[in-house]
Amino acid sequence: MGWKNLLLIGTMTILVSGCSQINSLLNKLPFIADESSNNNKNQQTKDDDSPINDPLSLESIFFNEIKEVDGKNVIQNSANVMALVNKEFYLPADYIPGDLVRPNVAFSFGDVETEKSLLRKEAALALEKMFSEAATNGIELYAISGYRSFSRQQSLFNAEIDRVGIEKAEQAVAIPGASEHQSGLAMDISSQSNKFYLNEAFENTPEGKWLKDQAHRFGFVLRYPKEKIDITNYMYEPWHYRYVGVKAATIMYKHNWTLEEYFNEVKKM
Ligand SMILES: [Zn+2]
Repeated sequence: MGWKNLLLIGTMTILVSGCSQINSLLNKLPFIADESSNNNKNQQTKDDDSPINDPLSLESIFFNEIKEVDGKNVIQNSANVMALVNKEFYLPADYIPGDLVRPNVAFSFGDVETEKSLLRKEAALALEKMFSEAATNGIELYAISGYRSFSRQQSLFNAEIDRVGIEKAEQAVAIPGASEHQSGLAMDISSQSNKFYLNEAFENTPEGKWLKDQAHRFGFVLRYPKEKIDITNYMYEPWHYRYVGVKAATIMYKHNWTLEEYFNEVKKM
């Protein structure tokens, strides 16, 4: 049974029954066996779009380079702006992005200096553009939570286990290493109209609707869509936006693909 068929089945059933189908989808993804990681190369932007490029092909440096460590698939080229981080592919515990900056946007917590205000430089610039264009359209966005270190994720995860037990914790909070927030490429966004909450109600606010249809123009994607829970293996999060660059974000938006599906469809150059 393919994943498309799974879409027809209740999503909660899939969450409970595990993710073997997802694993088989992900296992089909091509990876670079061994390429020495090169930070400059990995940080290259995806936005330089050459007209001779096939939009559905992607340079090999943007694919995860994976090494198995203690039974986990650990990403070796973590600084790749297109890194596929999920419950199958983990960031290393010691990975801290080298170019974290604080974007010049409104935060729900004001001017407080905190790691969650940070994003990688390329994503921060894109976020500034997105927030300022939103504002010119009367859409007032607030950044809630960006970069999250491995250790901070660990404490959040442990606190959730204490609260609801490990099974429920794994659905609600990313296992340390499996959070896109550690990449410095994801931002949780909300609005005053939603009392700055990160909840499903955000999808019905003017801000949530604007983001859903416009974010790709700035290189961001709604990472965990409602109808793709069986693919992402994360609950629906209308507030979580991930930077992947304008080219990939636009393709994903047009085809209604998650990042998992994008890597399954795109050809490695
Ligand atoms: Zn998030």
